[in-house]
Amino acid sequence: MKLGVSSCLLGTLCRYDGSHSKDDFIVNVLEKYFEFVPYCPETAIFGSPRETIRLVDEEGSIKAYTSKSNKDVTTQLEDISYRSTSMIANDNLCGFILKSKSPTCGLERVKVYEKDTHYNEKRGVGIFAKKN
Ligand code: SF4
Repeated sequence: MKLGVSSCLLGTLCRYDGSHSKDDFIVNVLEKYFEFVPYCPETAIFGSPRETIRLVDEEGSIKAYTSKSNKDVTTQLEDISYRSTSMIANDNLCGFILKSKSPTCGLERVKVYEKDTHYNEKRGVGIFAKKN
């Protein structure tokens, strides 16, 4: 059975700082039962290392901005997420393990910032997680 997994959880060096978030349970235990299909939407667009991204509430609409250069990357992330839906359908996955807290992969309680401030609430869903 095929299982989609956020690539960083498998030990791939694809995080914003060039590191990984390897999860030993996934890599050492689940790998005996599943064939992993890795996805990293951010690296596919921006490479690694890269600037961090954060979700921002812009008058009720949730956008994704790079945190230092303040560039709106919402459309790029939505596009790659949308394109991934057909890949995921073709991969015939039985499920998906998504990295928590990520503005791209996080399934729930992702930080959403008030525009131009550091104030945030944990109420967001990552853009890739939302589309898929
Ligand atoms: S959380 Fe998602 S986008 Fe971020 S590094 Fe991991 S796989 Fe890539």
